[in-house]
Amino acid sequence: MEIRTRFAPSPTGHLHIGGLRSALFSYLWAKHNNGKFFLRIEDTDRSRYVEGAVEGIKKSLLWAGISWDEDIIFQSERLDLYQKAANKLLEEEKAYRCFCSESRLERVRKLREQNKLPSGYDRKCRNLTKEEIDEHIANGDPYVIRLKVPLEGETICNDLLRGEIRFDNSTLEDIVLIKSDGFPTYHMAHVIDDNDMKITHVTRGEEWISSMPVHVILFNMFGFDLPVYVHLPVVLGESGKKLSKRDGASSVAEFIEAGYLPEAIINYLALLGWSYDDQTQIFDMKKLIELFDISKVSKASAVFSYEKLDWYNGYYIRNLSLEKFYEKALPYFIKANYVNESPTPQEEQYIKKILPQIQDRIFKLSDIISYCKFFFKSPENYNKEDFIDKGRDLQRSKEILEKVLPVLENSEFSEKDLEENLRIFIEKENLKVKDCFMPIRVAICGSRFSPGLFETLSIIGKDETIKRIKNALSQL
Ligand code: GLU
Repeated sequence: MEIRTRFAPSPTGHLHIGGLRSALFSYLWAKHNNGKFFLRIEDTDRSRYVEGAVEGIKKSLLWAGISWDEDIIFQSERLDLYQKAANKLLEEEKAYRCFCSESRLERVRKLREQNKLPSGYDRKCRNLTKEEIDEHIANGDPYVIRLKVPLEGETICNDLLRGEIRFDNSTLEDIVLIKSDGFPTYHMAHVIDDNDMKITHVTRGEEWISSMPVHVILFNMFGFDLPVYVHLPVVLGESGKKLSKRDGASSVAEFIEAGYLPEAIINYLALLGWSYDDQTQIFDMKKLIELFDISKVSKASAVFSYEKLDWYNGYYIRNLSLEKFYEKALPYFIKANYVNESPTPQEEQYIKKILPQIQDRIFKLSDIISYCKFFFKSPENYNKEDFIDKGRDLQRSKEILEKVLPVLENSEFSEKDLEENLRIFIEKENLKVKDCFMPIRVAICGSRFSPGLFETLSIIGKDETIKRIKNALSQL
């Protein structure tokens, strides 16, 4: 049997990172089995439709290396299919037209709430006579089509990760299948589509577990084979609630913008709820496809750790070749206005000298913006505290800077030459390495942090180094 999975987002905004994880798991399971993975856009809720969302979803998936088989399916183009299916249920009296107005439904809702009854529709229209129905239709009264759920007994559902889950039918609602605008609800459309697309595994968020019984009832009413259900646990923020803006980046677009590499995101997301063994940490897509097993996904919610993701991203950044790193980093140098859209060959060369110095120091590409500023702009104001950090004496720091100036003026400014000259200077002046290097570093970079000092000075160059030290001295 061909394994067929799908990712079925609603185009209501940016793709959430948890959505990308669902897509990844579906994709991996299909590919692991040499099966097919489909993208289906569930765009039947016109009130929540967001312009551009489909493009964003496609872009995010492709960025992550997840591509779909065959054409994308848009539910809004298949309304006939759902309507036909609903008509069949009406004919068989497995569904019914409900003419209740919004205001009546609202009254019912309030009343049920006051009487502490479970929320839901009171089934007023479930037993209308043929005459009553005809009259409503003749009047042109708008209606929805509702499912006639069995009132007794129970519905037994199966989830691959959780096993059997039993639902008492008396707790189920006569859900709406077709809305008054003729569009199907999610419940209806996805059942028709999953059957029509011969989906074998329905992998979706666990928020759908409570709707599973009505879905199973629908599958059975249509006489369709049931798919395997795999309800994936939500991705939580540190607060214990679904990861959201409050926690930091939450949409794939934001992670892309911040400069995470797709390899890092995929590796991290795969391990957010799945593991191969307790040791292996590094997986590329090929390896994931080879090893992924959907039945090993944990049913416990996973807490998203930005720190862990940063670790992965740092790892993949370190593994980039200089050319690749340049290609990925350049947009951030441009964004920060350090170079313009098409850098000159000299600028390209300059950036390529910087990159190896920062490669094992940054976690995301956007760190470039703050981390590399001093390579392009001289510090404007100095913070005296930086010069007297760890009990250093300001006067002494100034003296050191004054004394080191001629040493630097006489250096050729290769890394090697700088190192030799500065080491001799330290020895001659009987200084501690840090007491000498720190004031120079602060004068050059405007902060206590930078890549290796000799490398940094060599990249910045002699003129700029001297200029900055003099500027610092005049300010101290
Ligand atoms: N459109 C649904 C959602 O975005 C899809 C759920 C499913 O995969 O069946 O939650």
